[in-house]
Amino acid sequence: MLGAATMPFDKFREECGIFGVFNHPEAANLTYLGLYALQHRGQESTGIVSSDGRTLHVHKAMGLVADIFTEEVLKTLPGSIAIGHVRYSTTGSSQLINAQPFVVSGGIGNIAIAHNGNLTNAMEIRQELESYGSIFQSTMDTEVIIHLMAVSRERIFLDRLIDALARVKGAYSLLLMKEDALVALRDPHGFRPLSLGRLDGATVVASESCAFDLIGATFEREIEPGEILYVDKEGVKSFKPFDPVPQTPCVFEYIYFARPDSLIFGKNVYEVRKGLGRQLAREFPREADIVIPVPDSGMPAAIGYAQEAGIPLELGLIRNHYVGRTFIEPKQSIRHFGVKIKLNPVREILKGKRVVVIDDSIVRATTGRKIIKMLRSGGATEIHFFISSPPTRFPCFYGIDTPTKSELIANSHTLEEIRKYITCDTLGYLSMEGLRKVVDGGRASYCYACFDGRYPVEFPVDIPEPQMPLFYNIS
Ligand code: AMP
Repeated sequence: MLGAATMPFDKFREECGIFGVFNHPEAANLTYLGLYALQHRGQESTGIVSSDGRTLHVHKAMGLVADIFTEEVLKTLPGSIAIGHVRYSTTGSSQLINAQPFVVSGGIGNIAIAHNGNLTNAMEIRQELESYGSIFQSTMDTEVIIHLMAVSRERIFLDRLIDALARVKGAYSLLLMKEDALVALRDPHGFRPLSLGRLDGATVVASESCAFDLIGATFEREIEPGEILYVDKEGVKSFKPFDPVPQTPCVFEYIYFARPDSLIFGKNVYEVRKGLGRQLAREFPREADIVIPVPDSGMPAAIGYAQEAGIPLELGLIRNHYVGRTFIEPKQSIRHFGVKIKLNPVREILKGKRVVVIDDSIVRATTGRKIIKMLRSGGATEIHFFISSPPTRFPCFYGIDTPTKSELIANSHTLEEIRKYITCDTLGYLSMEGLRKVVDGGRASYCYACFDGRYPVEFPVDIPEPQMPLFYNIS
């Protein structure tokens, strides 16, 4: 955030995907493919760090995995160990210095770290470390882990890491690597997913299992909340150094973020989304001619709704797949345009029809409003808009990117006000009970904070964003 004014921490920080390989002659190539499969988790920057046993080799850049990692670039990343990262963040001009994996060399050796999640006490720790003289290179929360490892009194790498993690709070699925080892771990609450797989004699780890499918690896298991896996030439060792806390994996991974073909938190994402659609049909039965999804994220829930309600599913909106997610465009004016550029109605399907439209969530309601307009212009006579999650009222502090509280329409508007704004005939959100029933049989074992404001881990209010030193050259 070079030169930016201080702002309160009422902001989702970033969305990321991570991938790692140990003991494969094509470690960087596999990491490239793994990141390719995880591209939906972040489209702003990407990076791979490999180890040839003596040196760490790094390549990071702004942009998409397939554009950045050309054959020539991959040739510069030799060795049998690698970790990689894809990132989308909301920060401004200093994005490349915040691209991960983050690499340091110093008293603690050469270390690379890749992080998915968000540390809620990073600023507090950073201020403390800076007061003792630590000099930070980025504005990333992840960097505090490295600094804490550097100042730890422990001697062994793993003990230093455990020491550092004991101080940090929040959400972190992490990959670390040294020249001869890979470490993969999840925070004790297990906010973000991370899975372990095998490929021939190699160990692979990925944010989502869809990355294993692409490289032909077998899914072995999920890394458990609070578990640290240390992988070196002697094999995979598992440690659980922290006291257990209630597990609160992020329910929004199921609703929107993860890929439907992935298995996370013990369930297939597609099946969960379909179940949410079925539940939606039970909560909002309607006399209608067709059910249409808002592509692509509303698709599995729309299938579930249509099957449960016995109403035919049709593709009334066609998506142009060569456009990035509209949500990511920073300016309101471009976002409006983005919906049109991304979606187009099929008039022959919609004309004279009573339509149920399914989407996964409403954030600012920009998309919904545009879509309803499109469907009416396509000839739909009635539009019932149902959302396969409860109203998103609260910001996430654990690594999902959405706007500030005041920009979340459900935070400041009633259901009827939102319906009027969107201009649909009916608007219905899935109930909290319905969501709970589908994802965990009614128990409260997920993080639902974006819906109910109950944050499992405390976060600071009104702490300014870290500022880059003004002399930092970012070009
Ligand atoms: P909005 O127009 O602001 O209401 O955005 C709603 C759309 O954004 C829905 O179609 C969602 O699929 C999508 N969406 C929800 N959460 C996110 C997120 N964190 N990042 C990107 N897109 C999102």
